[in-house]
Amino acid sequence: MAFMFMHFDQAVPQLAYTGCAWCSSTMGISLCQTVNRGCCSYFPKFYPVELQRMSQSPEGLCVLNSILSHPGTELMDDHILVRGCYDALMYAKAQKEGTIPDDGYIQDSTIFFRTCPFVRPGLGCTLPVRYRTYVCNFFVCREVLENPAVQQQITPYLQVRANYVRFLQWENNQLLQVISDNGLTIRNHIGKVIELLAGLPINQYEFPMLEPIEMADGHGKGA
Ligand code: SF4
Ligand code: SF4
Repeated sequence: MAFMFMHFDQAVPQLAYTGCAWCSSTMGISLCQTVNRGCCSYFPKFYPVELQRMSQSPEGLCVLNSILSHPGTELMDDHILVRGCYDALMYAKAQKEGTIPDDGYIQDSTIFFRTCPFVRPGLGCTLPVRYRTYVCNFFVCREVLENPAVQQQITPYLQVRANYVRFLQWENNQLLQVISDNGLTIRNHIGKVIELLAGLPINQYEFPMLEPIEMADGHGKGA
């Protein structure tokens, strides 16, 4: 039995799915050297809303410093990208041997050969939920979301997720405007951007209450 529900970490929402602990979904397959990492093949992008949260506590600043000192980190104008491992040799070998999974939906087959720098095999994500990207906090794979037995119960979750993402995109645009108005970019002035974000109030989203969903089976080892 698996459950889907909304989890909150200091008011930061996460769409939680307990079946990730025994993942059997295609997206959770790893063909690279890091096994047992669920679907954490993503190279996270941290936008102003996440940087703002990190900027406002000593703990958040510690997380930010660890992100900034990571060798895979690249500063972009409007976000911070953190690249993890990509096993190009194993990808080339699997391509040659025709062993790359194909469920007809996955468009980028390199996901089976990539690993996020923040995942620990068998343990999940090492970042606190409150500092993760919203992509991470709201990702649940298609196999779970399209479970026909619970479609009706899942629909409100998808609607709430879409509304919340729109809110965050609006917030990001507002923050980027303030950053730009001060003549700054994340790429060129990260220290000053963090100082600026630390002084701006965080707008909270009023999350509706959603009923937890009980599912007969889990598809779900990720975060
Ligand atoms: S949840 Fe954590 S480990 Fe997984 S992709 Fe996101 S940052 Fe990486
Ligand atoms: S969301 Fe959970 S069940 Fe789906 S691929 Fe990721 S770890 Fe597996």
